Amino acid sequence: MDFESHLDWIDQQHDAMCELVIEWANINSHSYNLVGLSNFLTCVRTAFSALEGEMEDIAIDPHRVINARGEPEDIPLGRMLFVRKRPTAPIQILLGIHLDTVYPADHQFQTVTRIDDQRLQGPGVADAKGGLVILLMALNAFERSPFAENIGWEVFLNPDEEIGSPGSASVLIERAKRYHLGLLFESGLVNGNLVSERQGAGDYTVVIRGRSAHVGRDPFRGRNAAHALARFIMEVSDLQNSHNDIIINAAQLSSNGAVNVVPDLAVGRIGVRIAHSDSQQTVQQHLDRLVASLETTEGISVTLHGGIRKPPKVLDALTSSLLEDLKTCGVPLGLSLEWHPTAGVSDGNILAAAGLPTVDSLGARGGDIHTPMEFLEVNSLTERAKLVALFLMKLSVGQLTFSPVQSCH
Ligand SMILES: [Zn+2]
Repeated sequence: MDFESHLDWIDQQHDAMCELVIEWANINSHSYNLVGLSNFLTCVRTAFSALEGEMEDIAIDPHRVINARGEPEDIPLGRMLFVRKRPTAPIQILLGIHLDTVYPADHQFQTVTRIDDQRLQGPGVADAKGGLVILLMALNAFERSPFAENIGWEVFLNPDEEIGSPGSASVLIERAKRYHLGLLFESGLVNGNLVSERQGAGDYTVVIRGRSAHVGRDPFRGRNAAHALARFIMEVSDLQNSHNDIIINAAQLSSNGAVNVVPDLAVGRIGVRIAHSDSQQTVQQHLDRLVASLETTEGISVTLHGGIRKPPKVLDALTSSLLEDLKTCGVPLGLSLEWHPTAGVSDGNILAAAGLPTVDSLGARGGDIHTPMEFLEVNSLTERAKLVALFLMKLSVGQLTFSPVQSCH
């Protein structure tokens, strides 16, 4: 079968792909920049309309955060775009990547510069606008080929991945049920290898309320919320000392009042990483116990918000067979792909936990992501697009080992 000519077409798109990454990375699309996200979505809609799929963009739930006063506050999020084609084809695939970046609109890092022929430096070039361009071109090449008939696909583009997908996670979990496999376009490892497993991640906010009093005149009437928070933090970090697969990162500890007033409010924010799914329960039980023990003090009340939002992504048999198939597709392209675990999380954690075998590192090669040094290796744009297009063509004509029937759920 002639897959070659369709891959050659991707090679011819090299310059166009670079230009598109530059254009898109120059648009600020921080997770809370609704104007930027909306402008970016308009550009993306135009580019994806070439695929002639059915488009739908939906509002997602706002991001509920706990503010400095310890009260819930809703921050509105951008819209989520879907593009769907051939919903009744025998093999159904979900592909996606996030639209947002970590750089706020007032951050110094706003525009793309060409370092040399090999590298672009700019906000989101690797994480994940390069991946978005790769996804678009791979699907374009696939749709231009005569092999597309057996595969139906849906693309999702969400605006809130960099803040933990608070609005899009529930939508992803629901949509995952329609598909046999997931392909996500987060940046790959710097050497081009794929990610096999990911840690799980979550965050908690603890709000402690005590009783205010004058520190000199009436100290024993007061209930110091900051002292209670300090105890809470020390005991939470014990969890990390006793479990080597749990990481606790206490950050942003605050309390109210002046130094001559007993504070009646303290707020602490804690990041958690876990390697195994069972640790989810261990963490929750430990925190619940700490809350109960602090509340035995008269005058102290504690509210715990949050949880593990992205469960660990483990390498199961179906995901292994997807990785093996991608490796096979890499051979004629001169790639020798391997895969390794990584600590970072992605929406692949959510899709995998929803039962969808997912490879989530098909985006561009690059590095220094989330820093003003973020760069993209431009040759990876056509390289990855060819890999994914070849994977889709071979899957469609039954030349791969992954069998969608196995995973139909
Ligand atoms: Zn990121």
